[in-house]
Amino acid sequence: MIKSADPFSAAEPTGNTMTTLDPNTAGFIDGNPVATFVLDMNHRVVSWNKACEVLTGIPAASLIGTSDQWRAFYPTKRPVMADLILDGMNEADLRYFYQEKFHPSTLIPGACEAEDFFPDFGNGGCWLFFTAAPIRDAEGNVVGAIETLQDFTERRKAEAALRDREALLAQILQSTTVATVVIDQEHQIIHWNKACEALTGQQAESAMVTRDHWRPPSPEGRPFLSDLVLEGKIEDDFHRYFCGDLRQSTLIKGAYETEANWKNDRGEEKWLYLTAAPLISSNGELIGAIETMQDVTERRLAEESLRRSEERYRELSITDAMTQLYNTRHFSAMVGKEIERAERYRRPLTLLIADVDNFKAINDTYGHSEGDRVLVGLAEVIRLSLRSTDSAYRYGGEEFAILMPEVMVRDGAKLAERVRKQFGDRQFEMPDGTVLRSTVSIGVTQFQPGDDTKSLFCRADDGMYQAKRRGKNCVVIVEPPSGP
Ligand code: GH3
Ligand code: MG
Ligand code: MG
Repeated sequence: MIKSADPFSAAEPTGNTMTTLDPNTAGFIDGNPVATFVLDMNHRVVSWNKACEVLTGIPAASLIGTSDQWRAFYPTKRPVMADLILDGMNEADLRYFYQEKFHPSTLIPGACEAEDFFPDFGNGGCWLFFTAAPIRDAEGNVVGAIETLQDFTERRKAEAALRDREALLAQILQSTTVATVVIDQEHQIIHWNKACEALTGQQAESAMVTRDHWRPPSPEGRPFLSDLVLEGKIEDDFHRYFCGDLRQSTLIKGAYETEANWKNDRGEEKWLYLTAAPLISSNGELIGAIETMQDVTERRLAEESLRRSEERYRELSITDAMTQLYNTRHFSAMVGKEIERAERYRRPLTLLIADVDNFKAINDTYGHSEGDRVLVGLAEVIRLSLRSTDSAYRYGGEEFAILMPEVMVRDGAKLAERVRKQFGDRQFEMPDGTVLRSTVSIGVTQFQPGDDTKSLFCRADDGMYQAKRRGKNCVVIVEPPSGP
């Protein structure tokens, strides 16, 4: 009993019931550009069209009326698929002759199709896609079989070439020493090369699992740069996830690069140089993105240490070694800058000049190094009196300056008074047990429009000299000369 769902059930040959084929069949078939031949119920060729002649190289005349159709395809006698259709499409026979290469037609009941390679065809053989179907008369009786053949060698070759190209591309990605990852349109990782495995410690199999959450909610778990390139609004999104600078590549249009820090599985902090570029299909569609990662930790550490030593060198170059206040060179630079700022924004700026009183006598009495201790003491008093925006300088032997942006002269004088008082209260114990007190004279003035470094400095210095003349250990304010 043959079930009706059986794909092979439609071909029930009538055996010796001999019905004739419509004689017009051959005419239709001849003009068909698909290679086609027809067998009657006696397995004789009744039609072998032009396309079939071209494909097989065998003229119709030599086959019509014969059962030599096998000659076109095989070196020894055997049934072709149309013969098997006529014989009842026995699955065992089909399997015997076509192994796994055949399957029932999805379009025509009782028809069968297969793909196979024919080594003797053409130059170096060819791939044929062939179908065979029963031909029925008006009553539904099988009266013959029709077989069509299509050469798809070129398609096979193209498919093979495509596979080769994909394999080559995969090999190129695998062999590059730069860690490279490729994502598709859905942000799924489709390539994760060996260098990537080595750099991240993550194997391709685990990296390539579905990334449902490629867009993380927090900066700790950030997407790849390539994810942002794929989303198409990297310039907006970048700073949500990365801290560094985003640069457009000068080499590749649409590509970006940055340096980002990253912690590996062992908790080691690394710096990676990242590039990401969009992948565009031949019809201009964005189909994925490629990202490269390079470990630049060594270079970043070297740069950081260079930056720190440059910073240290700069600090040293503007610091007075003995008092740790800024030195004369820095004073000259800063007073100019502050004057410019005060002038431009019409903001107050006050300058103090302080000179230790009778310092020569201290040196002469107790020696130079004891004199130094006194200078360090004054520097300490000054430093402790400063607000965050003030800056203090030792610009001469026992002469100091304090620059006070945003401070009016009266408030500057108050600070000067505090310094004078606290320094005067300091006690310096000398090697012979004597307790020494020292004093300082201070001149204070305020910037006025039109002042330059020299005029401002001279006014404050003049105040300091006036303080000396007034008997030292005092503060003198020098008001700017009033305008016309
Ligand atoms: P006045 O009250 O008028 O300022 O008198 P003074 O003695 O303080 O002024 P003078 O300019 O006569 O002397 C300053 C002395 O400071 C002379 C110099 O040897 C000394 N001196 C300069 N630099 C240093 C230093 O770095 N350390 C020490 N110990 N002394 C220094
Ligand atoms: Mg002096
Ligand atoms: Mg002095």
